[in-house]
Amino acid sequence: MASSGQKVVLITGCSSGIGLRIAVTLAKDEKKRYHVIATMRDLKKKDKLIEAAGDTYGKTLMLLPLDVCSDESVKQCINNVKDRHIDILINNAGVGLLGPVESISIEEMKKVFETNFFGVVRMIKEVMPDMKKRRSGHIVVMSSVMGLQGVVFNDVYTASKFAMEGFCESMAVQLMKFNIRLSMIEPGPVHTEFETKMMEDVAKMEYPGVDADTVRYFKDVYLPSSIDIFDAMGQMPDDIAKCIKKVIE
Ligand code: NDP
Repeated sequence: MASSGQKVVLITGCSSGIGLRIAVTLAKDEKKRYHVIATMRDLKKKDKLIEAAGDTYGKTLMLLPLDVCSDESVKQCINNVKDRHIDILINNAGVGLLGPVESISIEEMKKVFETNFFGVVRMIKEVMPDMKKRRSGHIVVMSSVMGLQGVVFNDVYTASKFAMEGFCESMAVQLMKFNIRLSMIEPGPVHTEFETKMMEDVAKMEYPGVDADTVRYFKDVYLPSSIDIFDAMGQMPDDIAKCIKKVIE
């Protein structure tokens, strides 16, 4: 349970990558300012987080299951938080989708929107009433540079982040009246499992109905150059976690 003066921070998608590092960074805050509720959809993946959290696990960091694609899971998770009181919500969970649009089914595209857009909407709807009542709160949303700029072969991922940016920009105005802040984080490439998962998906990809020029451009030009960009510019998850710590201070 949070001790007095501690802020309750709920973070989505803490099984790996940026979410895991945000959870650990805040739980290890030198002044113990945060009571971190780290959530993940599959608690079988908890070991990496628990190991990184060290002796903060069970003290400033606790774990709850949460699938942002499920209304029921979102409701249950927030109901499990004492008095449904969350000071800071960090919407980090997200999935990528890479490749020529003709080779991606509408079902796969919907899954991306279900997580990256509706996942955030669900969480905001659930925490908003309590934040409004208390006239305080901070909602942080993990967007991407691709929430600002379209990038070839990331059409659907980019669209999901644009949609979320639009939703949040509009919401921010309403929330301001209740003294609730809304911050958007827009990282460039970050070395996480996101990159690995996308490359694994690409390796399995088939290209029915995609013209040969597009396939060649995707495989021989786009993929090698995007790996170069990751190598040259990729930040570490800790860099983003430190940035978020500053944003919420
Ligand atoms: P990871 O793949 O390492 O982490 C994504 C996290 O989201 C995982 O914990 C994953 O859980 C979780 N997740 C996915 N779907 C759901 C769901 N339905 N419910 C709950 N959790 C879910 O990637 P990153 O750490 O890189 O990504 C974190 C965020 O950062 C994403 O929103 C991404 O769009 C954004 N981002 C990433 C960049 C990058 O280059 N890596 C650049 C800019 C933004 P599980 O393990 O169960 O799959």
